[in-house]
Amino acid sequence: MKSSKAKPYITDDERAWIEIDLNNLKHNVKILRNAMHSNCELMAVVKAEAYGHGMYQIAAYMNQIGVKTFAVATIDEGIQLRRYDILGEILILGYTSPARAGELQKYELTQTLIDYDYALLLNKQNYNIKAHIKVDTGMHRLGFDKADTEKITSVFGMKHIEICGIYTHLCVSDSLDKEDIRFTNIQIDSFYELLEKLKKKHIELPKTHIQSSYGLLNYPELKCDYVRTGVLLYGVLSSPNDKTKLHLDLRPVLSLKSKVVLLRVIKKGESVGYGRAFIADKNRLIAILPIGYADGFPRNLSCQKSHVLINGHQAPVVGKICMDQLAVDVTDIPNIAIGMEATLIGKDEIAAPVVADNSGSITNELLCRLGQRLKVITTDLDGKY
Ligand SMILES: *Cc1c(COP(=O)(O)O)cnc(C)c1O
Repeated sequence: MKSSKAKPYITDDERAWIEIDLNNLKHNVKILRNAMHSNCELMAVVKAEAYGHGMYQIAAYMNQIGVKTFAVATIDEGIQLRRYDILGEILILGYTSPARAGELQKYELTQTLIDYDYALLLNKQNYNIKAHIKVDTGMHRLGFDKADTEKITSVFGMKHIEICGIYTHLCVSDSLDKEDIRFTNIQIDSFYELLEKLKKKHIELPKTHIQSSYGLLNYPELKCDYVRTGVLLYGVLSSPNDKTKLHLDLRPVLSLKSKVVLLRVIKKGESVGYGRAFIADKNRLIAILPIGYADGFPRNLSCQKSHVLINGHQAPVVGKICMDQLAVDVTDIPNIAIGMEATLIGKDEIAAPVVADNSGSITNELLCRLGQRLKVITTDLDGKY
């Protein structure tokens, strides 16, 4: 197994780190491409440091394996990708101040047009900008009103804006609830109705896209030019028990690790950490891990609400998680020693969706909040570092 091959690497110099398995990333890209319609391209969503995985590591590797389209949330993320020498299309999904139009042109970034007034403003800056039109079909966040065919049509004629794409975003595509499916189908139908109206106005349609990860899982029959895949690329669902139409054999790309730096016996009746939230019921062996909520491990996983894996054994988190450290109970772990690796997020019972769910959130939030001070370590295709 790859993971056991990777084992000998005990980081002498790291206290806590993110491990990225590029082999699994490559596998996921392959599986997702197979699940997509044959003329459809994978748009890799790498916003928020590639959901905490490290934007550089993820985007550079995907470029290497032939992924040519990326999506980010902000212009600064887009510029960062160009500084990393990422080639291909980079779509900014969110708002960019029109005052930064010059940078959009300079770095060859593609901007989402969030509504008509925004398009007018951007056109006025006198830079030549590539853009995708965002259409609001029911999410009611960003986008032109789906009924506003006139305004959408007129954007195609704007002098300084080149329309390369048109898209919408689904807001309940993760649910197989009957009412949610009905709502999603209305969203999809209204998007296609708009496209038909544009065709009737002799507009040559640009690239179209609708689905993000769950759009692909639950509406795989759609035939668009792109699927905007975020969370699935990283090999995980947003929540552990999500029912989906497609079941894809995806593998988690990220592990969150730290190591035992201190072992101490806590005598019966003694406490550990702030608020004395843990009191030993008998003599207990406690290990201190130098990782805390500043690294993105949620504080509400304190007090036995989670566990880490050490040497394949479960060690429950005891007491309150601190900003920079946490304590785990290792009383029952054989051969425990200082320097041993502890995995906080990995696979199976400590897979990101499970950990996220235990913390009252979703995988996406858990991962993208992993702290900047964690070093990202990638394992290559042989499972070596
Ligand atoms: C973040 C985002 C995505 C990716 O969503 P996943 O569910 O992670 O695949 C797709 N489209 C838009 C507009 C987004 O903001």
